[in-house]
Amino acid sequence: MNDVLMHTYARQPVGFVRGEGPWLWDAEGRRYLDALAGVAVCALGHAHPALAEALCEQARTLLHTSNIYQIPLQQRVGERLCALSGMQRAFFCNSGAEANEAAIKIARLRGHAKGVEVPTIIVMEGSFHGRTLATLTATGNKKIQMGFEPLVPGFVRVPYGDLAALEHTAQHVPSTVAVLVEPVQGEGGIIIPPPGYLKGVRDICDRNGLLMMLDEIQTGIARTGKWFAFQHEGIQPDVMTLAKGLGGGVPIGACLARGVAAETFGLGSHGSTFGGNPLACRAADTVLDVVEREDLCAKAVELGSHLLDGFRARLGDHPSVLAIRGHGLMLGIELDRPCGELVRKAIERGLLINVTAERVIRLLPPLVITQAEADIILDTVAALVTDFAAAAA
Ligand SMILES: *Cc1c(COP(=O)(O)O)cnc(C)c1O
Repeated sequence: MNDVLMHTYARQPVGFVRGEGPWLWDAEGRRYLDALAGVAVCALGHAHPALAEALCEQARTLLHTSNIYQIPLQQRVGERLCALSGMQRAFFCNSGAEANEAAIKIARLRGHAKGVEVPTIIVMEGSFHGRTLATLTATGNKKIQMGFEPLVPGFVRVPYGDLAALEHTAQHVPSTVAVLVEPVQGEGGIIIPPPGYLKGVRDICDRNGLLMMLDEIQTGIARTGKWFAFQHEGIQPDVMTLAKGLGGGVPIGACLARGVAAETFGLGSHGSTFGGNPLACRAADTVLDVVEREDLCAKAVELGSHLLDGFRARLGDHPSVLAIRGHGLMLGIELDRPCGELVRKAIERGLLINVTAERVIRLLPPLVITQAEADIILDTVAALVTDFAAAAA
């Protein structure tokens, strides 16, 4: 039945026809609690009235013109994102991978401007940056790269969370021009680096003349309890990429930069047909409104710690649970064995979760969930893990 689609996804045997808040319904009328939010995309949940209204109005007014012309909504979202993040300029595109492509191009252009012949970007083990050729090369996962060789030159890899290794590479590979790093590794298994890590990266970049480029595609837009995860450490990156939650379900990505990195692209350096069109920017503008108005940063902090405490209380002593990690509404429960089948088992119980890095249950619920809904996630996931471990024993 699905044979007309390329076989790139191992899809679950369920699909949805309607949503409301953190809830989704299938064609049979069964209801599911969405604790994944389209992988951190549907930050406002589904069918948020403000977003739906804004998009309908925008569709009746103007969907697309071209970056050949002025786009006031793009200007407005750029200004808001810069004001919120302390960055200075934005380039808009349509996805996370594209946002990282822009960052990589800025790093290379900057390197050449400094006379570096083969500008090299330091990336991390276990990272995820997308599926284009350059971003899958930057990604620290052999499975994602396999078969797509030759990979793109100009990347060197160090362990995540390891400042000494980063410093060593920055000093001993003279062609390095930038570091590209996630504040929390999402696909990698909700890996949270040691406190002070981003500050340390900032310091190493400063001392070695490197651009600090943060991939906030999963962590950005209030997910960790601040607008951007770097704000927990009081530092400022040179480049930051966004996508996922920024459009609340409408595809939009952004590469933000400041200082010399903001001056690097010039006329003709980069472009995108769809990037930052009126529809996508209206979505992003509305997402920013709602995150502000409903104080979703505070909600991510509050419900994130409620979930983390709840999981620690219920599963902290479980012999099959190796770790419980969380930063705002980005949570991971690491088991002692592969547990991909839990995704289907959760669906049978009316809950949508994800398993990443083979044995990490990943939860990225919409930022609008209530405490009662968070408690359903707690009870269901705790029961799933307990039953799964008991069946395997
Ligand atoms: C999802 C993700 C990407 C890729 O985004 P796409 O929109 O799928 O291209 C890149 N980096 C991180 C950290 C992500 O979570």
